[in-house]
Amino acid sequence: MENQAEILLNDFNLRQTNQRVKILQAFLRNSAALSHTDLEEEFAGSIDRATIYRCLKQFLDAGILHRIPDEQFQTKYAVCAACDHGHHHHDHAHFNCLGCNETTCIEQIVIPSIPMPAGFKVSEKILIVQGYCPRCNNA
Ligand SMILES: [Zn+2]
Ligand SMILES: [Zn+2]
Ligand SMILES: [Zn+2]
Repeated sequence: MENQAEILLNDFNLRQTNQRVKILQAFLRNSAALSHTDLEEEFAGSIDRATIYRCLKQFLDAGILHRIPDEQFQTKYAVCAACDHGHHHHDHAHFNCLGCNETTCIEQIVIPSIPMPAGFKVSEKILIVQGYCPRCNNA
């Protein structure tokens, strides 16, 4: 796990700091997306708010993490599967569970192309599907 975080930081030319490695590890061991608050709780007393915020911004800019609005329209973050340095290209849907409040990347669902009127340039498409995840659905 530690290796994977360090490899990612290397690949994206980000210096390996303790905090960056720890925050990235938190993403790598969770299949669900994480919010700033999730990270604050996880690292309470060890990594401060401002550092978490800064790391998230660096990871976003680098193309390591992408953003997803959750059911409350709060921002969650998830690891990118194959983004380039500083350039995101996402076409997958996301699922918000109304039971456990987890947000998951659904990589196999690709958002269809959306023809926009002339003059509009699309830089990002977000498709959120809400309902109950398999775990909550079976409860
Ligand atoms: Zn990305
Ligand atoms: Zn659920
Ligand atoms: Zn995603």
